[in-house]
Amino acid sequence: MSQKDEPVNKPADFSLFFNEERVIDEATAILEKLEDVAHGVRSLAEAYSQAYREQRRMVRLSDKMQLQLQSANHTLADQAKELSQLNEALQREVEEREKLAQELKMLASVDELTGTSNRRHFYELANYQLKRHQRYQMPMALLMLDLDHFKYINDAHGHQMGDKVLKRFADTLLSLLRNVDIIGRIGGEEFVVLLPECEEEDALHKAGQICSRFDTMSMEIDGQQLGLTISIGISMLQDDETIDQVLDRSDQALYAAKRAGRNRVCVWRPTLQE
Ligand code: GH3
Ligand code: MG
Ligand code: MG
Repeated sequence: MSQKDEPVNKPADFSLFFNEERVIDEATAILEKLEDVAHGVRSLAEAYSQAYREQRRMVRLSDKMQLQLQSANHTLADQAKELSQLNEALQREVEEREKLAQELKMLASVDELTGTSNRRHFYELANYQLKRHQRYQMPMALLMLDLDHFKYINDAHGHQMGDKVLKRFADTLLSLLRNVDIIGRIGGEEFVVLLPECEEEDALHKAGQICSRFDTMSMEIDGQQLGLTISIGISMLQDDETIDQVLDRSDQALYAAKRAGRNRVCVWRPTLQE
């Protein structure tokens, strides 16, 4: 290059001509670095924005889940309440049924008018005592009791009064007997008493007490004085006998007491039927 072509107004210490390449290189390097930084910033911004979107999504999800949980909680609480109500109702139902079952059992075993055992329950209790008798050979007496001329009480004072007399009779009987003795009403005005662990002598004594109690006592019911006598047949349980067999013999003894004039006790003997 000639002196003539050289640039005129240039600072003395700077020569683009000589530094051009270096300047370009440096500028390029700076630009590359800036691009790297810009790229990094973009990536960071993108990452932040993605994280932000993710966080928002998570927040929305969490809110939704919280709502669902709340609703599930309410449903569970409602269901728990319903279950507890159902449980209470069931409990009440079970108690009612138990009460009913007991009442039914009672009705099935107790004579409503007199409170003594009915025929079926008497047999049940008597058969249990029969087994004890067979096992331990304890003496056992069976009394059959019948109210004398009871029909007259009904005819003269009415059926309702007759019922009250039956009730009073059963109450008196209960008061005279031990609580191990079994009292059953097996017919309209016919009762049986089973005396476990009782000798004939004691049975006779007990039956005598029952008879004389009624003979000497005039009953006052609804302001009316009524007389009542009782006839009793006794039989001792023999080995290998059934309840029906001993009942049958007590009935024969009762029949004998009636024939002999009522208001008395008769003990079964083999000669009785003659
Ligand atoms: P006997 O001395 O021979 O036993 O004479 P009775 O009159 O007691 O016997 P009968 O068998 O002739 O009559 C029994 C009566 O008992 C007839 C019946 O109407 C009455 N009777 C039976 N069950 C009941 C009852 O539950 N209530 C009442 N009021 N009367 C009853
Ligand atoms: Mg009678
Ligand atoms: Mg009778």
